[in-house]
Amino acid sequence: MSANKTLLPLFQHAGEFVLAFPRAYHSGFNCGFNCAEAVNAAPVDWFVHGQNAAELYSLQCRKTSVLHDKLLFGSAEEAVQSLAKENPKHLKWRSACGKDGVLTLAVKARMIALEKERLDCLPAHLRKSKMDSDFDIYEERECFSCFYDLYLYASGCECSVDKYSCLKHSNSFCSSGMDKRFVMFRYTENELTTLVEALEGEPRAIEVCAKRNSGKVCANAEDACMVDLDAERVMHKTK
Ligand SMILES: [Zn+2]
Ligand SMILES: [Zn+2]
Repeated sequence: MSANKTLLPLFQHAGEFVLAFPRAYHSGFNCGFNCAEAVNAAPVDWFVHGQNAAELYSLQCRKTSVLHDKLLFGSAEEAVQSLAKENPKHLKWRSACGKDGVLTLAVKARMIALEKERLDCLPAHLRKSKMDSDFDIYEERECFSCFYDLYLYASGCECSVDKYSCLKHSNSFCSSGMDKRFVMFRYTENELTTLVEALEGEPRAIEVCAKRNSGKVCANAEDACMVDLDAERVMHKTK
């Protein structure tokens, strides 16, 4: 209010949904005794907003509640699987694919940003390798400095076990020499290119990706929407 913003109060009753658009700040509280459940969901064309939010949170060193890269590439893998099948249940993904599909464009935009990060932040002689498939199976990996989701890549050093950084904070990781430092990528550049070709509908690329069983499926194929799997479930009892 002190910033001259309009404040809109809203009463949510049982059985009602509240839709908040990207970048709309919102907060709420319960009146009386309540059992409240919240699930965060968004349509596929909001991936671009998700990317912007992830970058903004990184700048402000804030933890995110949605692992954007994991969701984006999990959705892309699921979509490619659906392109390889004839099952009608998977047809809804197809509208998000193709050369101008919103999912294809979101993955391409992320690839361009990732390539820029690689060029801007990584010394050319740094050791690079493919990330182990169990890297984040037991715990989510995030940058020690800005909490950025490390699903696509992680920078580390032999001097520090279980401590990793994003590419932007790779230089402030430690004072060890470059011979001890390394960076791991979940996808090689070739794999990313093939994934995009598959999303665009290239049959050979679809075949290659369909055989590759990488990434978890994070989005619901039937609804073709993004869902935060860490959906907040809260039991409130207020006085
Ligand atoms: Zn970072
Ligand atoms: Zn070190």
